[in-house]
Amino acid sequence: MSVRVLVDLEKCNLCMLCVEYCPAYVFSVSSGRITVDSSKCIECYGCIPLCPRSAIRIAVEPGDLTVFLKEK
Ligand code: SF4
Ligand code: SF4
Repeated sequence: MSVRVLVDLEKCNLCMLCVEYCPAYVFSVSSGRITVDSSKCIECYGCIPLCPRSAIRIAVEPGDLTVFLKEK
């Protein structure tokens, strides 16, 4: 199952905690803002409670969710 890591740039204050924390190096800074590479995410979900601005969300790709539900 693949996921999409989403950062709300309106909320993000560039504290860099997610960049330092993420074990899969999903987060980086480019042109003065956080950018993500969702393909690297190992779905540990640790970044969500970590972010002091509640700016991070992780979305399951709809197509994958359909596959997941069919398998159940
Ligand atoms: S932890 Fe949250 S506020 Fe800090 S840089 Fe990452 S997304 Fe932005
Ligand atoms: S869920 Fe884990 S691996 Fe994925 S972006 Fe967050 S901290 Fe990184």
